[in-house]
Amino acid sequence: MDVSQILLELQARDLRLVRAHKHLDEMPEKRAILAARHRIAEIETLLARTEKVGHVLDAALRKSEDESARISEKIDHEQAKLLSGEVTNPKELQNISKELASLVKQREHIDGEILAAMEKREAAQQQSDKIQAAIKVGRAKEAAMLADFQNKGAELLAEIERLKKERQALSGKLPVDLREKYTSLLDTKHGIAVGVLEGRSCTACRIELPGERLLALKSGPAIAVCPSCQRLLIVPQDHV
Ligand SMILES: [Zn+2]
Repeated sequence: MDVSQILLELQARDLRLVRAHKHLDEMPEKRAILAARHRIAEIETLLARTEKVGHVLDAALRKSEDESARISEKIDHEQAKLLSGEVTNPKELQNISKELASLVKQREHIDGEILAAMEKREAAQQQSDKIQAAIKVGRAKEAAMLADFQNKGAELLAEIERLKKERQALSGKLPVDLREKYTSLLDTKHGIAVGVLEGRSCTACRIELPGERLLALKSGPAIAVCPSCQRLLIVPQDHV
């Protein structure tokens, strides 16, 4: 392989390296994973909200149940008084009966509220369960996509490693000054350090060269510098 060929082979590896890195960054699997994570986060927010509603309902339920128990105690107390035979005054007995009736009514009302709250609590629980199931499905999908991404990513990473080794070997075959020139052009010329003279122009910048420049290039060395873009320019020797 002559120096011109080495330069072209090296340039080809470096372009493929750039593409492989770009491909790794832009893999649709990567975007899909990010979208799935975003969706899971949204569902988790919904779950937190639903669970908060459940906790508020729980607290209200406990309060109503305490209240119902307190009224039940009062009812027991009043009934015990009524049945003890200790109260004989008809007026007082009547008051106790009235109080009892009022307490029973209060308890009925609260028990009705408890029942309604329990139904709401049950509905909130069902919703929580559904959301949790959705999160589980979402996480399983995310894990599968992650594995897929890592597999495909691993292929790309292996390709990158291989290309790096190949470019290392090629670069080692170049004369030091040319290698340094190539490396610095790679940095300053957006990853393209080498052009080839094709017809009247350089394949890197595509600028058509004037006749006398063209002639000078064609009668010069196989590796020149493009007068237009300053990249290394390979001049095919069969044109001489
Ligand atoms: Zn050029």
